[in-house]
Amino acid sequence: MTKNYLVYVNGGFIPSQEASVSVFDHGLLYGDGIFEGIRVYDGVVFQLDAHLTRLYQDAKAIRLAMPLAKKALEEAVLETLRRNKLVNAYIRLVVTRGTGDLGLNPRKCPHPTVIIIAKPVDALHGAEAKQRGLHTIIAATRRHPVDTTSHEIKSLNYLNSILAILEANTQGADDAIMLDSRGFVAEATGTTLFAVQNGQLYTPPLYASILDGITRRFIISLARELNYPVTERDLTVFQLRNVDEIFLCGTMGEVVPVVSIDGQPVGVGKPGPITRHLLEEYSQRVKDPQHGTPIQSRAAPAPKTM
Ligand code: PMP
Repeated sequence: MTKNYLVYVNGGFIPSQEASVSVFDHGLLYGDGIFEGIRVYDGVVFQLDAHLTRLYQDAKAIRLAMPLAKKALEEAVLETLRRNKLVNAYIRLVVTRGTGDLGLNPRKCPHPTVIIIAKPVDALHGAEAKQRGLHTIIAATRRHPVDTTSHEIKSLNYLNSILAILEANTQGADDAIMLDSRGFVAEATGTTLFAVQNGQLYTPPLYASILDGITRRFIISLARELNYPVTERDLTVFQLRNVDEIFLCGTMGEVVPVVSIDGQPVGVGKPGPITRHLLEEYSQRVKDPQHGTPIQSRAAPAPKTM
């Protein structure tokens, strides 16, 4: 039986089995909305401020007037965790255009819908993926370019990634690496990409149709701190097929090695040493309060019991 937990919907906390939105919500009808996926490690909401900043930037980009201020939304996220007594969790923060009619025009949707779901975490590619690594393909589906539905907006329309995942499924792979409209490497379906060659890290630039990933930023500074040089630059598929190591990273995926592309091994076909080093360091840092927001930060501390 599924455990009933509390979901935040427009300011109220509703039992999960009853939490719902209207069939006229434009998030459902048109994918008109934005979201964030956020992780909580040992009572610290990792990079919460960066996630909220990105959400508010996305809201501005789609001209969605956020119904509550950033601080109030932060408090709603923390309160959702407290009410569900969660200290290790995945948070899905969704803001839709709200309820309208069957027409496209957002003018008919005066009230955005705000949803916060917090649940215990299921690993993105299965718990063992970090050890064994992922088998990938290069997808025929290209990442959407900046002058269409921008890759920069974390919108509720994920069909672009889903089409690539379907290609991976058909070919028996775990995930797909996607190219931008120029043919350069962009990212995977829900993670950004790093390649390692001769001890140096390379990652596609923000203009290569990628999401400005919060984990990507974190990994760039972590790698530099650990004395691995990092260069943001265009990568060709040819180059990618010939590097020593590849890993993907994201809030859900964390750091996951890629061990093959289109059936060919990456490097020696096993998770590489630099990937493993970064994965280990990453899993330590995510619990550090200096990289996140403690759940109890804005509430009075619980009284100590003897
Ligand atoms: N790319 C895409 C397409 C994604 O959906 C995600 C997950 N949000 C990422 C990259 C990784 O971004 P982040 O590190 O901010 O989770």
